[in-house]
Formats: sequence, C-alpha cells, structure tokens
Amino acid sequence: MPDTSRISKGPPSVLVLDASYSQIEDVIEKILETFPFPWKGNRVVIKPNILSPSPPEKGITTHPSLIRSLVKALKRREAHCLVGDNPGLNGYAANERCARISGIFDAANGCFVNFAKETAQINARSRFFEKLVVSKVILDADLVIDVPKFKTHLQTRITGAIKNMFGILVGAEKARVHLSAARPENFSEALVDIYQIRIPDLTIMDAVVGMEGNGPSSQELRPIGKILAARNGVAVDGLMAAMMGIPQKSVDCLRIAFQRDLGEIDPARMEIQGSWSRLEKFKMPLTFVSQGLLGAAVNKLYYRPLVKPRLSVRPELCTVCGVCVQHCPVQALTMGKFPLLDSKKCISCYCCYELCSNQAIELTGLMRRVTKRDKLSAHGKTLG
Ligand code: SF4
Ligand code: SF4
Repeated sequence: MPDTSRISKGPPSVLVLDASYSQIEDVIEKILETFPFPWKGNRVVIKPNILSPSPPEKGITTHPSLIRSLVKALKRREAHCLVGDNPGLNGYAANERCARISGIFDAANGCFVNFAKETAQINARSRFFEKLVVSKVILDADLVIDVPKFKTHLQTRITGAIKNMFGILVGAEKARVHLSAARPENFSEALVDIYQIRIPDLTIMDAVVGMEGNGPSSQELRPIGKILAARNGVAVDGLMAAMMGIPQKSVDCLRIAFQRDLGEIDPARMEIQGSWSRLEKFKMPLTFVSQGLLGAAVNKLYYRPLVKPRLSVRPELCTVCGVCVQHCPVQALTMGKFPLLDSKKCISCYCCYELCSNQAIELTGLMRRVTKRDKLSAHGKTLG
C-alpha cells in the first residue's frame, strides 16, 4: 500500500501569489503564515531544483532569491535549515559546483548540505526496483519543503513537485532508475514511487519565471510572476498543468498520483486562494503534440523510433566535454570527434539534452523533418 500518511486531508488549499524575485520576502512570509508548521528546533530540509551548473538567469534552477528569503524566514522561526539537491550531474564535487553556480550555495547562508555526503539504502515500494540509495538528510528530516520550478519536460511533459523529489536519489542511482523504468509511462510511475519515499510537507513552486518548450533546460523562458504553494505538491503540479493548458491526465505522473489518492489534480476541486489563468499559447515540448483522444494516441507514438524527436549535435557549440556521454544511462553515446549515438540503444530519456550546458544538442521533431525546414546535421550526420 502506498504511504499516504503525510497527505493533508480535505480539499487541497493552494495559494497563488503575485511575486517578483526582487520582492519575494513578503510572499514567503505569507506562505509560512498560511501553512503553519512547528518550525522551531526542527530539522527542515529545503529541496530546490538544482538540475545543472546553471546561473540563475538561465531559469533552469530554482531562483536563489526564493531560497534566501525562505532560509531567512525559517531561521527567524528558529528552525534548523538544511538546503541541498542531487543535480543531474553525478558526484560529490558536482553537487557543490552546481549549487555555487546556481547561486543557491550563497543563498543558503551557511545551511547548504551536500546531499551526497551521507547516503542510505532503503527498500523501495516499486515494481521497477527493490532498493534505492537516497540522501540520508531527507530521511532524517522532521519537515521537508519541496521548492521546484515551473517547467516543461521532454520526457514527463511537466517537471514540478513530484519530479523534483527525484533529486533525493544519489548520483548514478538516477541513471539506474532511467534504465529500469525506461518507457516514459514507467519512468513517471517510478517518479511517483520515489515521491512517496518522503512526501514533502510543503511545496513552494517558483513560477516567477517559468519555462516552456523543450524543458527542463530549454532557453524559452516564460515570465509568469507567480509563486504557487500548498501542503499537497500533487495539487500544485495539477494547477501547473492547468496553467500550461494541458489535460492533467495527459501527464502520466499526475494521473498515477491521482489514482493513488495522493492529491487532487483538477483545479475545479481545489480551494485556490489568489488568481491564476491559463497561459496563452504556452509551448509544450516536441514530445507533446496535441490533446484529446487522437492527440493522446499521437503523443504515445512520439516515442516510437521513426516518430520521436531526433537528436543532433551542433559542432560549432560542442566543446567535447563528454558530459552527455558520461550521463547516458544506457551507454548509447560514445565520443568520436563529437558524441555519436547508437539510436537502437537510446531510450529517449533526454538526459544528454538537458545536461549539455552549451545547448550543443538539438532536437528536431517529425514535422520539421518531413517539411525539411531544418538541416539535420552533426558534422554531417544525424545522431538519432
Ligand atoms: S554535446 Fe554538449 S555535453 Fe556533449 S560533449 Fe558536446 S558540449 Fe559536452
Ligand atoms: S542518447 Fe541521450 S536521450 Fe538517448 S538514452 Fe542516452 S542520454 Fe537518453
């Protein structure tokens, strides 16, 4: 049976507040007043999204101003704060480097903890894996605050409260999950299994500047000017999908979380304080083509070899750093003059795309290939 002991009962209350990064302290105060917890003397783990070594202006990671204000407000309440994440890049040193470049190390104001420092192997309630290695700091927390970013995701459509908890897994453990649950819907189910290891007590989503297009490392930022907060992270993700204008049940991890009674996903059944609206012409990833029954079928086809977006390398941007090759969970990439792909091995996780900090990997969808509007080349070759 799934662990539902930490799920708040009753209709989820979601707070939607207008915010800017320069004036966020009052917003954080309002959230902590609306959702009171026994902060004093407790170990409070703050889990931002620190996907990669990206500066705040790229909009890939949770903005440091939010973390700075949260730490300050919790310290005033005499909480013992701990801030950290396991980014997409593996390793102890990478954890600290990503935190420093994202600005979150400084924003944590002495409360940064390297999530790779202490680990624990736990039994997992999942049909894909029996054991998982997670950061011990999460297991030892009295309270957990999930601080995701409002973003799209090539493989899972959205990345928010549920997906952000994937970062409790240490280093190469994430690649192992990609491998054991390779199909997109299986991977989403695995994400919900991981979310249930430690359901956060509070979720505060950075939607001041969101991301559209081919997230989670797209260059297409979308100013939204909002912070969403709730005790129930699934409700926050449901509202995010509604703001993006996509049916909640077209997102596998939302559908599965709802089926497991982990939270409400339809804003019509939530108590929402504050104003929100569907974002006009919000751009979903190439892997999400349309809606409705036909759309759902087409969306599934988008992972088929002939239809899925094609990966290619832009030689003029590639520094041959090898990050994509090192982090491919199925060793589908090898380094030649530039990275080379064995498309038969590729499971379309898009880790290579999201971790290339030079945006040297590009994706081309079926329509563009058919209409030949794009030149598909990577030193003369398509990679996928
Ligand atoms: S494609 Fe990107 S991650 Fe891969 S080697 Fe080139 S620069 Fe590095
Ligand atoms: S080549 Fe890229 S998309 Fe394919 S499996 Fe490897 S990391 Fe994932």
